[in-house]
Amino acid sequence: NRQKRIRNFSIIAHIDHGKSTLADRILESTSALTKREMRAQMLDAMDLERERGITIKLNAVQLTYKAQDGEEYIFHLIDTPGHVDFSYEVSRSLAACEGALLIVDAAQGIEAQTLANVYLALENDLEIIPVINKIDLPSAEPERVKQEVEDVIGLDASEAVLTSAKSGLGIEDVLEAIVEKVPAPTGDPDAPLKALIFDSLYDPYRGVVTYIRIIDGTVKVGDHIKMMATGKSFEVNEIGVFTPKPVAKDELTVGDVGYLTAAIKNVSDTRVGDTITSAAHPTAEPLPGYRRMNPMVFCGLYPIDSNDYNDLREALERLELNDSSLQYEAETSEALGFGFRCGFLGLLHMEIIQERIEREFGIDLITTAPSVIYKVEMANGETIEIDNPSKMPEGKMIENVEEPYVKASVMTPNDYVGAVMELCQNKRGEFIDMVYLDENRVNVIYHIPLSEIVYDFFDHLKSNTKGYASLDYELIGYKPSKLVKMDILLNGEKIDALSIIVHRDFAYPRGKAIVEKLKELIPRQQFEVPIQAALGQKIVARSTIKALRKNVLAKCYGGDISRKRKLLEKQKEGKKRMKTVGKVDVPQEAFMAVLRLD
Ligand code: GDP
Ligand code: MG
Repeated sequence: NRQKRIRNFSIIAHIDHGKSTLADRILESTSALTKREMRAQMLDAMDLERERGITIKLNAVQLTYKAQDGEEYIFHLIDTPGHVDFSYEVSRSLAACEGALLIVDAAQGIEAQTLANVYLALENDLEIIPVINKIDLPSAEPERVKQEVEDVIGLDASEAVLTSAKSGLGIEDVLEAIVEKVPAPTGDPDAPLKALIFDSLYDPYRGVVTYIRIIDGTVKVGDHIKMMATGKSFEVNEIGVFTPKPVAKDELTVGDVGYLTAAIKNVSDTRVGDTITSAAHPTAEPLPGYRRMNPMVFCGLYPIDSNDYNDLREALERLELNDSSLQYEAETSEALGFGFRCGFLGLLHMEIIQERIEREFGIDLITTAPSVIYKVEMANGETIEIDNPSKMPEGKMIENVEEPYVKASVMTPNDYVGAVMELCQNKRGEFIDMVYLDENRVNVIYHIPLSEIVYDFFDHLKSNTKGYASLDYELIGYKPSKLVKMDILLNGEKIDALSIIVHRDFAYPRGKAIVEKLKELIPRQQFEVPIQAALGQKIVARSTIKALRKNVLAKCYGGDISRKRKLLEKQKEGKKRMKTVGKVDVPQEAFMAVLRLD
């Protein structure tokens, strides 16, 4: 019976512990690909993922494995992202599995996101198989890490698999453990269709392609299906599996993981987390949906060339289809013109979306500094939410401002506990707890304003601990804070896109640091440009960019024309990421100045 030989699993790990490398080894030894087709980190398909060495979108592949018991097994491997920003995607893909390989670096041990991922796997009732990876490293301590898995996570690690994904050691053991430990799917092939949509993407020729896991029943080409959340019906055009090449099939049945197209033109007709059923014989209850993740970080995206506005809207529409956590709405800025206010799960998510818009859609962008959502209680009793600092009302109209706080959990070697605590204090953190994982590693817990994490917390954490500390955080709610809006004036003009919200006690030093940073980042112009930071009418810091003295072209005067042209081109190149604000040319970096203060 085929169903008994299906194994659906994910790989979860803290970033860099070797998930993609292990996935590559598994792909190699289950020979889904010829050597020529196999390239390093096969599952990280997007260029951006390959460059940054991180996994953004989850992927599902079908593999076959001839086990030591002589049977041939069908594996569905669902890759998940490892970064904290993408935990909602991890959660989505885990719901399509019965088991998970938990990779832990044999030299690093358990990190903050190892734990976060384990909790997601436990929430989804998955069988967790511990895999201790990188045992080839001289600093590997597999026995210590096994003990840590038992003590900290509470999993039995006596049968943990030891691997070197790099050299290929232990891969067979991993495959056997999957066969032995991951339960086969339990659905009923004769029951009405019940399939989970765990991802979707838009294909210009085929419409929406949904990635599905069949829980009950069978789906065939030509079937009439219904989306349970939206009530919309469609006729199935194509179904298939990824090997990782898409391979068309006649049907998918219980336990299968694959794709389905049905000439679905409208993005909003499919929702990730929705249940697909048969239009004629619908199942009684939909599957429990996914937790909808709300964006926590907001910024403005503006096309440098205002003619690109409609293309930018289209790009955001496309990206939103693949990424339900991306939010956007039109906004206008006096300084930057027409653009969009966009919401993201975190900073990495924000950077990735920006880069994808620039690369995949060819639109040059100006992005404003990220902001969180502030809750403002007005003197007239009304409460409003502010996701754009320039929209913060006048001080005298405000009764009270609240900002989002997170519970930050920092895992660090003992030696850096002092440095971590100092950083957390500087970032307005409140100490909550400190837990020793073993004699050398500590989990330090603080409540910290999300805005501080969004700015530069992670960079500082890494540099203050030589990269040894790891961070995980979750939103815990709002708390009142003494927050004020600080405006930035260039050449006497208030630039709305540069306004920020600061804590009153830190306003002066921050204002001073920002005007100094802007002076560094904004190139000299033909005239002198004063820079000022203001709280209401009161100027709290100032500096001046001196006027440009000589004409750049003067030194080529009478010189050869090609050199002159090159110089002009170079200037144009530099201009690409500039926006003229009032009369001043402001480069992209200046809008992010607040993030780079030291
Ligand atoms: P991911 O972030 O969990 O997907 O991690 P990657 O698979 O991208 O691996 C992160 C880094 O660790 C890469 O430089 C890999 O080459 C390296 N790596 C992965 N597995 C091993 C291993 O078993 N031994 C050693 N020495 N390095 C490994
Ligand atoms: Mg990876």
